[in-house]
Amino acid sequence: MNDGFAQKLLAWYDENGRHDLPWHHDRNPYRVWVSEIMLQQTQVTTVIPYFEAFMQRFPDVKALASAPVDDVLSHWSGLGYYARARNLQKAAQQVANEHGGEFPGNLEQLQALPGIGRSTAAAILAQAFQQRAAILDGNVKRVLARYHAIPGWPGKTDVLNQLWERAEEHTPDARIRDYTQAIMDLGAMVCTRSRPACDNCPLQNGCDAYANNETSLYPGSKPKKAKPEKTTWMVILEDHQGRILLERRPPSGIWGGLWSLPELDPAYGPEELPDACEQAFGFHCGEPELTSGFRHTFSHYHLHIQPARLTVQSPAHINDRDSYKWVHRDQALTLGLPAPIRTLLTAPEQTLLL
Ligand code: SF4
Repeated sequence: MNDGFAQKLLAWYDENGRHDLPWHHDRNPYRVWVSEIMLQQTQVTTVIPYFEAFMQRFPDVKALASAPVDDVLSHWSGLGYYARARNLQKAAQQVANEHGGEFPGNLEQLQALPGIGRSTAAAILAQAFQQRAAILDGNVKRVLARYHAIPGWPGKTDVLNQLWERAEEHTPDARIRDYTQAIMDLGAMVCTRSRPACDNCPLQNGCDAYANNETSLYPGSKPKKAKPEKTTWMVILEDHQGRILLERRPPSGIWGGLWSLPELDPAYGPEELPDACEQAFGFHCGEPELTSGFRHTFSHYHLHIQPARLTVQSPAHINDRDSYKWVHRDQALTLGLPAPIRTLLTAPEQTLLL
C-alpha cells in the first residue's frame, strides 16, 4: 500500500522521534532483544535505568546465559511479569548452546526462542539486522486500529489478523529501522491511549477514526470478566538475630522463582498463627502482630495479603535450604523480590501496625 503512510511517519520521526535511547547505541541483536522484552509491559522512562543496569551486569548473551537465576531476577525486580526474565535467560542459554552465541537472523528461528513472539522477532530483525519485518506491539495496534477504524478487541484472532495485514502493508522496504521506531514512538507520544494528540499527528489526513470523531472507540476493549478474589496470610518470621525467613516461589507461575514471604492458609484465625507456624516450620513463635493488609492485582485474580509479624522463640533450623533462607532485611532487598514484598519489607514499622 502506498498511501504515503510510511513517508509521512518517517518525516515526522526525523523531527520528533526518539533517536537517542540507550538501546539505539551499539544496536546489536542482544541489546535490541533485551530492550524489546523490557518494553513489552513497561514504559520507556521506567525501562531506561533497568536496561542500563542489566547491560552493565550482563553485557552479552553469554553473561546472561551463565548467570545465577537469582541474579537475573534481582535485576528484574520491580519490572513485574517475571516470566519475561525467566524466559530471557532460557532464550540466552539456547542462543549460547544452539546458535554458538549468535542470534539467528530469521523470523522462524527467533520465534522458536522462549518469550519471543512474532512482533518481538520482527523488531529484532528490523532494528538489529535491518531486514524488512512488520511489528505489531501495543502501540502499533492502537495506531492501526484507529487509522483504519478496525473494530473489536485486538486479543481476538480475527481482529489481530486484520491488524497484521495492515502492518505488513504499511511496512516499507527502506529505512526499516527508523520506521519501526517511528511507529512505536507515534503510538507512545501522539496516538496515546487516552486523548490522542491528533492535531500533531502526521497521519491525521487519512485516519478513519479521526475523520469520524471516534478515536475513543479504537482499539476495542477487552470484554470485562470479574476477577476472583483470594486471600492469604503472609508471615514475617523474625529470629533472635533479627533475620527474617524468606521462601522461594516455585519456578513457574505467579512470582515464579522469586523470594517471597511464607504464606499460611487464610482459614487460620490470627490466634492460631503460632500453632500454624509450628506445624509448618517446626519452631515456636510468640503472639502475632497484625499489620495493615493490602490488595495486589494479578492478571487473573486479586490477592488480599494480610501480613503478620511473629518472633521465633526456639532454634529456627530450616532443613530445606533450596526453598527457605534466613536473611537480614538489607540482604533480602538485594534478592529478586516481588514488588509488593519489597514494599512490605521497606515500609516503616509504624505504618504497618494496626
Ligand atoms: S489522527 Fe489521531 S487517532 Fe489517528 S493516528 Fe493520528 S493520533 Fe491516532
